[in-house]
Amino acid sequence: MLDRLEPQAPDALLALIKLYAGDDRADKIDLGVGVYRTDDGETPVFAAIKQAEARLLEEQDSKSYLGPEGDMGFVNALMPHAFGRDGAMGGRLEGMQTPGGTGAVRLAVAAAQRAGVARVHLGAPSWPNHAQILADVGVEAANFDHANADGTANAEAVLTAIREAGANEAVLLHGCCHNPTGIDYTPEEWDAIAEAFADSAALPILDLAYQGLGHGMDEDAYGLRRVLAAVPEALIAYSCDKNFGMYRDRVGALYVLASEAGQLPVIQSNLNALARAAWSMPPDHGGAAVRVVLRDPDLTALWLEELDTMRARMRQVRERLAGAGQAGSIDLAPLARQNGLFSMLPVTKDQVERLRTEHAIYMAGSGRINVAGLHKGNIDRFVEALSAVTG
Ligand code: PMP
Repeated sequence: MLDRLEPQAPDALLALIKLYAGDDRADKIDLGVGVYRTDDGETPVFAAIKQAEARLLEEQDSKSYLGPEGDMGFVNALMPHAFGRDGAMGGRLEGMQTPGGTGAVRLAVAAAQRAGVARVHLGAPSWPNHAQILADVGVEAANFDHANADGTANAEAVLTAIREAGANEAVLLHGCCHNPTGIDYTPEEWDAIAEAFADSAALPILDLAYQGLGHGMDEDAYGLRRVLAAVPEALIAYSCDKNFGMYRDRVGALYVLASEAGQLPVIQSNLNALARAAWSMPPDHGGAAVRVVLRDPDLTALWLEELDTMRARMRQVRERLAGAGQAGSIDLAPLARQNGLFSMLPVTKDQVERLRTEHAIYMAGSGRINVAGLHKGNIDRFVEALSAVTG
């Protein structure tokens, strides 16, 4: 029977990783994969995590099962960082651990569907897995334009989507450091989005995968907190895989804001049932390490320092790119106003291909670049190559 299966297109980014690995040009540049890199091109384990892991090794006395909700110490310790000091929303907000932010998005969509959501409004472009998850769960995706050609967010489009969304619909938004564009809503735009949600029947689903990589932990949570303060219900998918550098350890959480604290046990019982059928329980190690960091003020301070260094480096790269002004037909100035790992360059597929074959520069076919792949040793070469293929 299995020979009835149709071949599926390989994940384009994973294919790019293979091509990059097989390229023996010494000055090759990888702007494809979505991981942070230092000036030396490394993706190191955070020092705070290394220390937490050493402690775990010493102190962990059992690996017996937890439950579908995972490590609640981790889930609760993250809350003040994500939602602010008074973020418990009068007991209306509760979470559970998930396998990465991907698991959290998946669970959010599946739970929304169980609650009757048949259609999810989503800005385009978005993280490609959003559409794949919606399709796989069996919920319709409705796209609105995320960005304007000048590199700003299309606030009118999202406001219209929220205002016009009916009952049985949800709107999925990136909390910060939008993937793939780096284009976030301004605080004023978030104020309007929160107001629109307050008057809308739509369920907000907020995806926060890069908190702290844009302007700071509190700054990057502005929109999330503003929306939560305005609405009765919401689902929040959170990833620690970037801001704690945990990628392969799959550290995430799904939080739910209920209209009343008394509703939470029923919602939670549905989330547990869905998680149980999908992965039973999340992997423990990464969440436990993050818990150790967040429960120790010294390790928390060290983690925040490391996060500051990451953010400052990405800002520097963005400033340098923007400082170059024009590269061929491409205006790099907007990149300084964008946030996080990614920005999208208006290049054609053909130009992406020439950058790879003629200049050993690897980026997604969409024109998305990971700015953390650039550093003072390769940034000028990148700008020159971009000028050469687009000029
Ligand atoms: N949401 C967005 C917008 C993302 O970009 C990503 C990661 N690429 C995720 C969720 C999922 O992250 P994780 O690796 O924790 O599954």
